[in-house]
Order: sequence, then C-alpha cells, then structure tokens
Amino acid sequence: MLASAFIIGPFFCSRLCAAGAIPEYISRLWPKRWKIDWSSFMNTVPIRYGFLIGFLLVPFFSGSIACAYCDYSFLERLSTGVVFGNIGVVGSTTILTGFFWLVLFGLMTKGGRGYCSFLCPVGSIQSAVHSVGARFGFTYKLRYEKEKCTACSSCVQACPMSALRKEEKEIKYEILNCITCRQCEASCPTAAISYGCGKRGWSTTANAAEHELHPQVQERGHKG
Ligand code: SF4
Ligand code: SF4
Repeated sequence: MLASAFIIGPFFCSRLCAAGAIPEYISRLWPKRWKIDWSSFMNTVPIRYGFLIGFLLVPFFSGSIACAYCDYSFLERLSTGVVFGNIGVVGSTTILTGFFWLVLFGLMTKGGRGYCSFLCPVGSIQSAVHSVGARFGFTYKLRYEKEKCTACSSCVQACPMSALRKEEKEIKYEILNCITCRQCEASCPTAAISYGCGKRGWSTTANAAEHELHPQVQERGHKG
C-alpha cells in the first residue's frame, strides 16, 4: 500500500476503500446547498495530521482508539450487533463512529469524505507518502497547466477531499489531502489538469509546475 502510494498516489483510498466510498455515495443523496464545506472555514491538513499523531501516540498510554473509532470496525460491530442479535457490542463508540462516518462527515459533508479528511490514519499516511513520491520524476502525480485554466472552479467543486481551492485566477492544490481519485481531472473542461509522470507536478509551487510543463515559459523568462 505504501509502495503504491509512493509511485501512483493513494489509489487504495480512491479505488479500493469501501469505508471511503460508502459515505461518498451517501453524500450524493443530500442537497448541495445543505452540505458543509469544512475547508471554507478551517484548514483541514493540521487537523488530519494532528489526529494521525494522536492515533500513533495514544496506544503507548492506553488502548488503541483508532480501532474503537474505525469505520471498518464499525461495520463489523454493527453486523454482529444487529444481524446476529448481539446488541451488547453496539456501544457508545459504535454509535459515535456511525454518526461521524456516515452522517456528519458523510451525508452532510461536501464530497462525503469528511472521515477520510479528518480521522483516517491509513489515508493520511498514504497522502504523506505520496507527497514525498511526487517529488521524483518517475512517479505519477497530478499536473496543472495554469494557462489552460479558466478558473471555472469545476475541479474545486468536484474534489471530495477539499484538496483544491481557488485563489484569484489560479487553483491551489494541497497534496496532503489528495487521494488521487482524479475527479478534478475528469471535471475539467479545458484539460488543464492531467495525471502522469514528470519531474515536478502540481505538488510544488505553481511556478515550478509551469516551468516543468512548459519549458518555453522558462525560456521566455530568461530572455526577458
Ligand atoms: S485534488 Fe483531484 S485527485 Fe486529489 S482528491 Fe481532489 S479531486 Fe481527487
Ligand atoms: S476545472 Fe479546469 S479550467 Fe476549471 S478551474 Fe479547475 S483546472 Fe481550471
């Protein structure tokens, strides 16, 4: 999982993780105007990695809270409790996990990936590994061509992880939130976003990405 995150990005999160897909699909049932876009009033990255540090440290002092509040563990406890009639396993942590995973961070959150954005240690580690891998030329990553971008915001709206934001006429990218689902690429009407190898993608500064994708821009800069 870590090797694939390094080379092609966190594809496990975007393609294989049922716990991420279920709330994302559920969120499509909720009207857009009532959805919460957490990134509009907070920076989700420090919260995401703050939880990761907490999940890693807490087992040294007490039990593993990551398992108590894990969405996969929730499904197991729910099936044991409801389907097999063992209601004793459906405790407060199960109810809280279900509320956060499916309701607050799922149904009511833009993109339905609030649990992934805030609470999933597996996803945050993969995004961190991807941010390192994206610095090498042979790895796959998102790329952005600013001169093709019309600042229409389709990609910002499509991103379930709030990894994109519009700043003036440019789209800024936060690789530490990205799960390489490529919904931004699919939604872009001008093909300004692409996915592939390259020395530097969108993961670094806009200028670095521009020079990598368009050597002529660099050339013009030198002449000027
Ligand atoms: S930036 Fe694009 S690839 Fe990354 S999570 Fe958002 S939509 Fe998916
Ligand atoms: S969807 Fe494409 S053109 Fe529209 S803002 Fe995003 S990158 Fe730019």
